[in-house]
Amino acid sequence: MNAAGGHDAGCGGYCRIGDTAHNMNGTKKPEGDGAHGRQRTVLVVEDNPLNLELVTDVMTAHGWRVLQASRAAEGIALARSHNPDVILMDVSLPGMDGLRATAALARDPCTRDIPVIGVSAHAMKGDEKAAFRAGCCGYITKPIDVRSFARQVEDMIMACKRPEAARACQPRSEDEVR
Ligand code: MN
Repeated sequence: MNAAGGHDAGCGGYCRIGDTAHNMNGTKKPEGDGAHGRQRTVLVVEDNPLNLELVTDVMTAHGWRVLQASRAAEGIALARSHNPDVILMDVSLPGMDGLRATAALARDPCTRDIPVIGVSAHAMKGDEKAAFRAGCCGYITKPIDVRSFARQVEDMIMACKRPEAARACQPRSEDEVR
C-alpha cells in the first residue's frame, strides 16, 4: 500500500509512507527493538480534561505512549510532527470540531494514512455515519468502558488496515481504488 503521491513537503521528516511503522501485534507490549518495535503512540484530541486524563491513563496502562491535544489545530500539528499510530478524536471540540479536523487530516498527505477513531457522546447511527464520512475508520461512544477501551482501539486499528476499510477511510487515495 503506497501513500499516493508521497509528497512530504512540510511534514517535519515524519511523513508516513505506507504502513511500515505500524506494529501489527495489537496486544503485545512494545519492545523497542528497531523500526517495528518502537513504542506505539496514540494522539488523544479531547477538550475535557477529565476525559483526556482517563483515556491517557487507560492507554498508558496498555503500553501506549500518549500525546495530548485539547484543540483540533493542536492535534493536527502533533499528528504532522509526530506521526502517531492512531488518533482518538473527540467529535465535539470548541472551534474546529473533530470531524472537520479528521477531514483535514485525511486531505493531508502527511497524515491521511493515520487511522482516526472518533470518540463521541453522540450514539445515534447518523453520528457514526458522519464520522465515517469525515474519514474516521472507527467510532467509540462515551462514556468509554475502561476495561475494554484499549482493546477496542487496537481492534479498530487492525480493521482500518484492511484494504476495503482503507478505501472507506481515505476516499481521496486513488491507489486504494481498484
Ligand atoms: Mn469534547
